[in-house]
Amino acid sequence: MIVYRLSSCSPIKKSMDELLEKWDIPTEIYELQLGQRTDVIEKAINVNGVVFHIPYLTDKHLYVLWKCHWPDCHNCCEKQLKLPLVKEDIETLTRKLGYTSEAEFVKNETIIATINQRRHSGKLLTTLTMISLKRKEEETDQDANSVIACRFLNNTGCTLHPDKPSVCWIYPFVPSTVIDSGRVVVHARFHFTGNCPGFYLDETVNDMLPLLEEYSKKIFDYSMAFGRTLRENYGCSSKMQIHPSS
Ligand code: SF4
Ligand code: SF4
Repeated sequence: MIVYRLSSCSPIKKSMDELLEKWDIPTEIYELQLGQRTDVIEKAINVNGVVFHIPYLTDKHLYVLWKCHWPDCHNCCEKQLKLPLVKEDIETLTRKLGYTSEAEFVKNETIIATINQRRHSGKLLTTLTMISLKRKEEETDQDANSVIACRFLNNTGCTLHPDKPSVCWIYPFVPSTVIDSGRVVVHARFHFTGNCPGFYLDETVNDMLPLLEEYSKKIFDYSMAFGRTLRENYGCSSKMQIHPSS
């Protein structure tokens, strides 16, 4: 049984309440994001080597699925959390933003952001420190934990598209990588931030299978690029077991 550990996080409730003003959010999705449901398990669906962990509500016999409402919604860009860059993003964005050297791009356009992710029911804390694209021109390292409207969003959409950071291509999934019997296995879960109105309920996953097919390649490529980025010291990662009382 999975309990998403978000209930004590009031920013998520605030975000969900704002979503409710514009979107028809199922009660079960609202409860799930606030960690109020105790009937959530995950069903693993392997698509092209990426294991998607899709939430399933056992009391309701319903899957939690997702589709994007773009261009009617830009919420994930208007309430941006962080834009960590993989090595290939640095190369692409250096050119895109008109810099002649990666060093100049990194100096002017990025900050260092620390990202904490809890996994395995909150028992494992992963801390990532990554070069991250500034979401506003004057962004500093101190802004790293703030929600900020991304400066690259304008009336026509993302001005970096199709060269936007890789992490933007895989939202709202969060990948993780494990080695199983000598093979790399990529896992992907939804990132429930309270900012996306795209989650819905269905009796089967069938409607989402084409999207999982499309995202499996993006997520696999992102995960490999992410690994290369850490190995080449563009970022670092540490893991810590959390004591139940902490
Ligand atoms: S918040 Fe969700 S629905 Fe809206 S644009 Fe982003 S991914 Fe799509
Ligand atoms: S870079 Fe583009 S896609 Fe990514 S958050 Fe900013 S506006 Fe959105």
